[in-house]
Amino acid sequence: MKQFIALDIGGTALKYGIVNEDGSILESLEHSVNFDNYETPIIQTIINVLDRYQSDYTKFSGIAVSATGQIDSKLGKVIGVGGNIKNYLNTNIKETLENRYKIRCEVLNDANAVAAAEKWIGAAKNCRNVIAITIGTGVGGGIYVDNQLLLGQRGIAGEIGHFSIHSHGVKCSCGNVGCFEKYASMRALVEKVNTALNVEYNGKIIFENIHDVTVSKIVDEWITDIAKGIVSLVHIFNPEMIVIGGGVSKQEKLFVEPLRKKIQNIAMPRFSENLEIVGAKLENGAGMVGAVYYFISQAT
Ligand SMILES: [Zn+2]
Repeated sequence: MKQFIALDIGGTALKYGIVNEDGSILESLEHSVNFDNYETPIIQTIINVLDRYQSDYTKFSGIAVSATGQIDSKLGKVIGVGGNIKNYLNTNIKETLENRYKIRCEVLNDANAVAAAEKWIGAAKNCRNVIAITIGTGVGGGIYVDNQLLLGQRGIAGEIGHFSIHSHGVKCSCGNVGCFEKYASMRALVEKVNTALNVEYNGKIIFENIHDVTVSKIVDEWITDIAKGIVSLVHIFNPEMIVIGGGVSKQEKLFVEPLRKKIQNIAMPRFSENLEIVGAKLENGAGMVGAVYYFISQAT
């Protein structure tokens, strides 16, 4: 069976290991990337780790990379960075790793990689039209249209955190106002609840306190905003499945079920027929697995 070296470059850690051509993970390890606040560029950390990891990379079928930030997946290069990751913008991940390890390398944005993994061996297996949405501190997404990952001109399509759902809404770091992420992220929910109740809850505690009238009202409004955003995507892309990722997707009764109902109520009937809304299936390793699926689909 063919084997791939897979990397998942996150803001705090590098996950790396070996993934088989059927999507099973043979080995998965982790290394910090912000141990010195990114003074060591992430690409240098990766090289240090990989130099020690294997003596000969040419016995592998390739290096498949899932990476945080805006990734030009045609060039395999970082062309946009959110947050405060120093020494990362403009990193030529593909070129650097191909030159050093003498095998092909493909790079994909991490949200797209999660979508790819769910489509390959996860919740959306056998679906041709899928929107995967990860709800965390921010909101990420990946979109499959007619079995093809939607990449756009430079490979940065599917940035669903930044379409506006409120024209007079909150200002976003991207420059627009009312972005989906500003309403649909876990951070948005946590801030609203904590401001209203003057507490310091996290997402998990919020759902444990769902019987509080104020909490329940804020959560309901939050789910409504998420539903409205998703319905717009449903009308544009006509998917057969929406896969919701992030910790909150484990809340079937309190989150996925009410979200499903709201989406089905708001969407036009022909769009909601045969539309499934489910929680993500894959947890750890989804980035690595999705990167390998992308690598394989690029090769054929
Ligand atoms: Zn924005």
